[in-house]
Amino acid sequence: MDNYYGLVGFFEFCSIEQKTLKDWNIFYRRFIFLAFVTVTFSLFSQTENVGKKIIVIDPGHGGSDSGAIGINGIKEKDVVLGIALEMVKMNKSLSSSTLEIYLTRYSDTLISLNDRTKLAKALQADVFISLHCNHADYQNVKGTEVYVSKVDGNYIRQSILMGHGIERALVNQIGLESRGVKFANFQVLRETVDYCVALLVEFGFLSNWDEASYFSSYKNIESISKTILTAL
Ligand SMILES: [Zn+2]
Repeated sequence: MDNYYGLVGFFEFCSIEQKTLKDWNIFYRRFIFLAFVTVTFSLFSQTENVGKKIIVIDPGHGGSDSGAIGINGIKEKDVVLGIALEMVKMNKSLSSSTLEIYLTRYSDTLISLNDRTKLAKALQADVFISLHCNHADYQNVKGTEVYVSKVDGNYIRQSILMGHGIERALVNQIGLESRGVKFANFQVLRETVDYCVALLVEFGFLSNWDEASYFSSYKNIESISKTILTAL
């Protein structure tokens, strides 16, 4: 009842002058419209990324750490950053994309191994994937390999499974020679395998002429990015 009289009093107050009531109506209509827009926008932004897989891509090395230097002069840090940036670009252009991609570095900077894995944990990533290129003393050594953590963790099985998928895709779609899925005690894998799928890909050998030439072409960087993107 109190509410009822309160409401009556409120409307009596509003009807003191017709012009004031009209102003209130306009005010309420605007308020309701703005509230509707705000709620819709907030719901949309919340649901936009729901169900999307969070992928943290870690382009190895960077800054003062070039990684492997190719037989033709290309640097590992540039090749892997090129692949990662291309993946972000491709993913953005796909309206139906189910992935939300973050990089540990977006430019030629050096980040500690610890900070690379911290990002995956902070973002509660579904997949952490570190990108590298190989190097050997013998020029004829070539092929691609995927590493999973040697130390057991909550996501070791899923990591092995996805590792095989990526290795297969690189061999079947790019034509790289397979060196298989291997186990290693790498810090970036050891520190993430308890939280998400954790992989380290060695695309190929920069000490091999064929593979170093392959990674020097932008068109091929695009092909590799597309292959990894579809295999995730
Ligand atoms: Zn490397």
